[in-house]
Amino acid sequence: MIRPHAEQDAIRDDVFRWLDLRRNAGAYEYSRDELVNYMFNGERIPLLDTGRGIRNPVDFDSTLTIMTSSKKTAYSDGISPEGLVTYSYQSREGGDNVKLRRAFERADPLVYFLGVRPSYFVAFYPAYIVHDDPVRRTVSIALDETLRHFDDPLNLKEYERRYAERLVRTRLHQPMFRARVLRAYNTACAICNLKHAELLDAAHIIADSQTGGVAEVTNGLALCKIHHASYDQNLLGITPDYEVRIDRDLLEEVDGPMLRHGLQDMHGRPLTLPQRTADYPSRQKLAEKYALFAA
Ligand SMILES: [Zn+2]
Repeated sequence: MIRPHAEQDAIRDDVFRWLDLRRNAGAYEYSRDELVNYMFNGERIPLLDTGRGIRNPVDFDSTLTIMTSSKKTAYSDGISPEGLVTYSYQSREGGDNVKLRRAFERADPLVYFLGVRPSYFVAFYPAYIVHDDPVRRTVSIALDETLRHFDDPLNLKEYERRYAERLVRTRLHQPMFRARVLRAYNTACAICNLKHAELLDAAHIIADSQTGGVAEVTNGLALCKIHHASYDQNLLGITPDYEVRIDRDLLEEVDGPMLRHGLQDMHGRPLTLPQRTADYPSRQKLAEKYALFAA
C-alpha cells in the first residue's frame, strides 16, 4: 500500500526538520544507528537501507534517500565542481530504478548521505535528481536547491559554472571538512578546549582557494567561535611549533573577563593536537599564516 502523497511529502519535510534540529544542536555527523531509528508520529521509518545505497520505503512511490559510503569518499567527497554527485543504480530492472526515475520526474526532494567514516554520514538536503542517464545507468544529484534551477545542469553556461563552483567551495565541501576536523580534534577547541560542538568551527589555516575537493584536515583546526574569529583577524597567532600567541596591543588592553581569560590568558599556551599525527596541522601552513599575524 502506497501512502498518500501528502503524507509522503509531510514525512520528507519532517526528516529535513529533524536533521536541522540535530545540526543546530551541534551534530556534525549522523550515525547509521540514529538514521535507521528515525521516527515519524511514533512510527519508525529507517532513513538508510541495509547493504544498499538507496532507500526506497515500500510504501513510498519515489526515493527517500541516497547514500555513498565512506569507502568511496576516503580521499575526496565525490562532489563535482558543479555541485553534482553521480549515483550508479542497479543493473537489474525493478522497483529501485522505477522509484529513482520517479523522484527525477516529479522533482521530489530527498536526502543525500555522504559517508565520512564507517557508519557515519554528513547530510545534504533537500537534494534533487537533475539528470537520468539510462544508458550509463546513473543519475546526477544536485546537492543544493539552487543548482537544480539551471536549464541544463550537465552543461552549465559560464556564469552558472562560476556560481556553482563558488557554492561548492564555500558550502558543499564544508560539512565533510567540519566532520573530519571536529572528529580529529575530539570535538574540542584546540586552543581553549571548549567542548560544545554547537560553539565550534572547523577553521581553515590558509583560506580555501583550491577548487578541487574537500580541504585537508591538515589545513584545519577545531576552534571555538571566538578563537576562530580571532585567528582569522590575526589577533591570535599559532606558531609552527604549535604555540598560541596573542597580538601585542591586545595583550596590553584592559577590559572584562572575555579579553582577560578568553584571549590574554591563552598567550603561550600549547595547542591541543589531534589524536592521530596524520591529522596534525601542517607546519608549513601554520608558518605561512603566522607570518601574517607577526607582520
Ligand atoms: Zn576556544
